[in-house]
Amino acid sequence: MTAQDLIARLKDVTPSSIKTKPFVDGKFVDPASDATFETIYPGTGTKIADIAACGQVDVDRAVASARKAFESGVWSRMAPADRKRILTRFSELMLEHRDELAGLETLNVGKPITRSRNGDIPSAAGCIAWYADAIDKVYGEVAETGPDVTTMVVREPLGVVAAVVPWNYPLSMACWKLGPALATGNSVILKPAEQSPFTALRIAELALEAGLPPGVLNVVPGLGEAAGKALGLHMDVDCVTFTGSTEVGKMFLEYSGQSNAKHVSLELGGKSPQIVLNDCDDLDGAARAIAAGIFSNSGQVCNAGSRLVVESGIKDALLERVVAIATDLKAGDPLDESTQLGSIVSEKQFERVMSYIDIGKSEGASVVAGGKAARPESGGFFIEPTVFDNVGNGMRIAQEEIFGPVLSAITVADFDEAVTVANDTIYGLSAAIWTRDIRKAHRAARAIRAGVVWVNCFDRGSMSAPFGGFKQSGFGRDKSLHAMDKYTDWKSIWIAH
Ligand code: NDP
Repeated sequence: MTAQDLIARLKDVTPSSIKTKPFVDGKFVDPASDATFETIYPGTGTKIADIAACGQVDVDRAVASARKAFESGVWSRMAPADRKRILTRFSELMLEHRDELAGLETLNVGKPITRSRNGDIPSAAGCIAWYADAIDKVYGEVAETGPDVTTMVVREPLGVVAAVVPWNYPLSMACWKLGPALATGNSVILKPAEQSPFTALRIAELALEAGLPPGVLNVVPGLGEAAGKALGLHMDVDCVTFTGSTEVGKMFLEYSGQSNAKHVSLELGGKSPQIVLNDCDDLDGAARAIAAGIFSNSGQVCNAGSRLVVESGIKDALLERVVAIATDLKAGDPLDESTQLGSIVSEKQFERVMSYIDIGKSEGASVVAGGKAARPESGGFFIEPTVFDNVGNGMRIAQEEIFGPVLSAITVADFDEAVTVANDTIYGLSAAIWTRDIRKAHRAARAIRAGVVWVNCFDRGSMSAPFGGFKQSGFGRDKSLHAMDKYTDWKSIWIAH
């Protein structure tokens, strides 16, 4: 199947929807070099396009454009009501182009087309709308400093923000950064992951159409070691906001130290535990949530519930239900409307997940569902929903982020052991506990070191609630008004009477 055949299957996507050059100063521009990288549709392994592999010179141009726009005040000092109108229009345009953006997203990362259309794209647009709404509802303060002086504490944008984002939810992750960064008046350079540049480049045009002044949003596709690193080390970037692996997140801290001590916020990996206690009275509901928590998006989710920590009394009954769901869930063609489970993002990630399945077996855990590649005839990268039983929390499959549809079940004797196991990880992004006992629910929610804890549910989310991690899952929060803190500084202004 050729790229043309695939594009022809997608509603509203045309070859011209696919942009291949950096977007700088309000237009697509020629990159400084001829270097390119390939984007591959992971559903069939078909090459879709060659994208400019931007480097230092392109990053310098994007940063200069962002700086010029910021200092001019064309956006940073625009009246809040006008910024609100433009961001609202930007969000509307994303929705008007929903089918096109959904097609581009699925073509890049192989997630089911219905998920892209009904989940990712509206959620990304909703995020921009939420921050547009918030623009004129966030105030500064007047401090109580005495009768002879008035002290205003005002929020100011940081300036030039670099957003370096991953491939698992390309547009949503970009918008979690763009929404609060733009709403607070910053200029942004967005670097999408090499696997998934299509929607990032396309929305730059939509933002311009909505009225965002040139230079306020630039998009620089490129490889992490080149474009990402150049942003991290840039002396004129004020802030890096990053989502991705813990390993690369730590690099951004180093880049900051080696350059201008720029602000860094990190949303990193996880190994989130789902604790299920013997007194859980809805094993069917828990099993559905456990399966969805690890198999949706083929497990390529930072807060995937990848560790099932289950009390021994209900282990067999629960696992039987989870295994039944896993076995029923078949990977399908991501462009087919009925597909629930898509592909892994790339051959490299496919190999990585398969290698962890081998590691689990060699560590002595038992595969009780899946464990193999799926749909090999497609040419794409699919993996069966996989469940390991008899996992020890010290095993690599219990400690390392696999980022695939692989669940590790760990049996524990009681509540205290469950909490100990839940916390025995370098990560702290999220966790869940399933119990009828309200005291245990409260105790666990407080005792677990994670940025999000769900009780009798999993992966509930809203723009109103912050999201982010403890420990090596990072710091700084996406979503909610708290995210605005990452893109602003407080200034105290003392006015003597
Ligand atoms: P990375 O952390 O490598 O990629 C995330 C972003 O960082 C991408 O834009 C990437 O660019 C960029 N990047 C990569 N290397 C550098 C660098 N040296 N300097 C600056 N920027 C860089 O994730 P991977 O794509 O490699 O995935 C590997 C693992 O990371 C996964 O298996 C998973 O465990 C974890 N991960 C976690 C995510 C999360 O949401 N927490 C999301 C994605 C991955 P480019 O891709 O163009 O090289």
